[in-house]
Amino acid sequence: MNLQYQVSLLPYNTFRIPSQAESFVVVENKEELLEALAYVRQYHKELLIIGGGSNILFTRDVKGLVLLNKLPGIEIIKEDENHVWVKAGAGVVWHQLVMFAIEHNLHGIENLALIPGSAGAAPMQNIGAYGVELQHVFDYLTAIHIHNGEEHTLTAADCKFGYRESVFKNIYKNQFIITEIVLRLNKNPEFHISYGAIQQQLEEMKVTTLTAKEVAEAVMHIRRSKLPDPAVIGNAGSFFKNPTIDKKQYQALQQQYPSIPGYEVGSNLIKVPAGWLIEHSGPDANTSWKGFKRGDVGCHAKQALVLVNYGNGTGKDVLTLSEDIMQSVRDKYQIDLEREVNLY
Ligand code: FAD
Ligand code: NAP
Repeated sequence: MNLQYQVSLLPYNTFRIPSQAESFVVVENKEELLEALAYVRQYHKELLIIGGGSNILFTRDVKGLVLLNKLPGIEIIKEDENHVWVKAGAGVVWHQLVMFAIEHNLHGIENLALIPGSAGAAPMQNIGAYGVELQHVFDYLTAIHIHNGEEHTLTAADCKFGYRESVFKNIYKNQFIITEIVLRLNKNPEFHISYGAIQQQLEEMKVTTLTAKEVAEAVMHIRRSKLPDPAVIGNAGSFFKNPTIDKKQYQALQQQYPSIPGYEVGSNLIKVPAGWLIEHSGPDANTSWKGFKRGDVGCHAKQALVLVNYGNGTGKDVLTLSEDIMQSVRDKYQIDLEREVNLY
């Protein structure tokens, strides 16, 4: 184990927020991982696991160990008539796993192309995009209990996946390090292209025979045109979850704001895009948060749901902006936004 001390976390979070780790280790195999966990236990250190750092906002320094998970490897482990099971090390870049599936003519995660981050973090919030969520293809994962080093296998039911949610964000928070995930991918295509602009993009691409590769390319094209590239502008994707409200409240809001979008997600529940709520509220009655800039932080000009760091923003600057946004949405629509990004 190669421990480093007083390491800047700037290169390890896509928000490009400054923070310092008291100690830092890169883990590339299970032995190194167990050694790092033993160190944490022996010296009673706080532990923070990082993959791609694309869903974290640092608001302080880390007084403990930051473990950068680089556990590698993608392999096909099982196959039947209709499915292929693919195992990936937690440190594998998620998009590389998507590309592996496409190269092997396997279906199910093409809509999740270009989501930044690691395979091991994907179950944390049951990553999702364009109508597909990890849980639709997830079989099981292995994880090591941080406090005793024991290995556990957790099925989809154990993970209690929900909308951008899993057991790892609540009752098992800071309990496990995910080391491998196993996905059950389809040999036969079952495409989901009705969501957002996918269909329109496929038409523009003049696609005649639909394949997972074409769908992934359409998704990548849309994402590149809409979302800020973290390599250029610091961000962590959607800062807030889409809130769900009851139908009565939605209908009342519709009377006042006829263009408010909503999607049924249960018999009496409507999901309202947080991006719309943020775009249609602002720091004062006549302005929108969309494209808003304060100091070096702001809301992206093409998607208000994405908070951005133009260079020298701090975690506190982003946090304060997020609180102001939450307040203005609450004042105008009586809806409470919930942060999706993990605060540290
Ligand atoms: P990190 O940010 O490193 O970690 C996130 C959390 O998981 C932290 O609490 C960390 O401690 C914990 N963690 C990480 N790895 C492990 C592990 N192995 N074991 C236990 N805990 C762990 N998300 C979506 O769902 N859909 C999208 O479409 C999407 N688009 C995005 C677009 C952009 C431009 C950006 C910047 C982000 C986007 N995200 C999206 C959010 C993010 O990419 C995902 O949540 C991703 O899964 C985070 O992976 P990561 O490795 O970067 O996690
Ligand atoms: P969009 O297509 O502009 O749509 C806005 C919102 O409306 C999305 O949040 C989406 O909810 C919802 N929506 C759109 N069409 C829908 C449908 N047919 N049924 C139900 N809900 C629908 O969104 P976008 O910002 O460009 O993002 C596209 C996709 O990528 C979305 O799925 C989004 O979640 C995902 N994404 C996620 C992140 C992240 O960090 N979590 C970042 C960028 C993009 P859902 O969000 O529930 O899908």
